[in-house]
Amino acid sequence: MTRALVAADSQNPPGRERLVADVARQLLEPLCGSVAEVEAAPGRVSLVGRIGDCSRPTLLVNGHLDTVPADPNRWAHDPFGGEVADGRIWGRGTADMKGGVAAAIEAVLALGRAGIEPPCDVLFHLVADEERGGRFGTQALLDRGLITADACVVPEPTSLDVCIAERGLLHVDVLLHGRPAHASEPRVLPGQAQADAVDDVRRLIDAIDDPDLIYDLEPIVFGEASELAPSHPWTAWMRAAIAGVIGRPPAVIGMPFATDARFVRNQRAIPAVVCGPGSIDQAHVDDEWVAIDALVDAAAVYATLMAGFDDEAVAVLHERRTAPTR
Ligand SMILES: [Zn+2]
Repeated sequence: MTRALVAADSQNPPGRERLVADVARQLLEPLCGSVAEVEAAPGRVSLVGRIGDCSRPTLLVNGHLDTVPADPNRWAHDPFGGEVADGRIWGRGTADMKGGVAAAIEAVLALGRAGIEPPCDVLFHLVADEERGGRFGTQALLDRGLITADACVVPEPTSLDVCIAERGLLHVDVLLHGRPAHASEPRVLPGQAQADAVDDVRRLIDAIDDPDLIYDLEPIVFGEASELAPSHPWTAWMRAAIAGVIGRPPAVIGMPFATDARFVRNQRAIPAVVCGPGSIDQAHVDDEWVAIDALVDAAAVYATLMAGFDDEAVAVLHERRTAPTR
């Protein structure tokens, strides 16, 4: 499944997710029956597929189908070949994050083969445009009121560590008049609004002591930071599931960059962790790869989560939902 998804070029930009969404649909449809499509702009396709009938707790799996671009001239492997060598699958998106999406789908299949009926609905949001801020992906699902769940896992590459916090992002165009200068990147931290972040950039530029410096500053993309409390039961639950598979408790970490988890955490107050196979060191690099063993471990972790996501366990999460982290 990882190889099939990698073979479907979904580089963003330009962001044409139609092809990969059609491949993902073929994987999901046997599990979900019908798979709904949200096409936020022409060709910018996200999929919504639910396993279950809404009568049980809902575990949301949010995974993006787009990738950053790949320059084949810089790769030893075909970025879209899905080549298998040295216990790895090579290609753009193997780690970030088609491997994680495949592992989550495989978890459902594995439970079925084992004759285990999960006590929950599993809701797949396989989205466009994460790599460029999510406007045509998770943001579009949010705007349509489609993000509802009791908890969420985002299978981005964390080497199966449990990521509960992440910085936000701010892209700005700064047009400098006069002598060119260099503006450093701000760090968008939890609680910081766009205006604060933009002010930080202005302060950096204003600190340049040059009376001839005149500039225009235009915010392009803003993503707020987000976090889940380390003491939240969903954090403990994830750690236990992972420890049961890999034999040791994973680290609980924060990330210096933003993922779609921020929409789920901040806009919907749904507890969300980012946790998936493959290393973040492999994201966006030439000759990206994911270890096949890591995909298998991740599928086992997700299957464990799905198998245990019952009313009783979810009630514990709901006790905490009255007090979202921000
Ligand atoms: Zn990613």
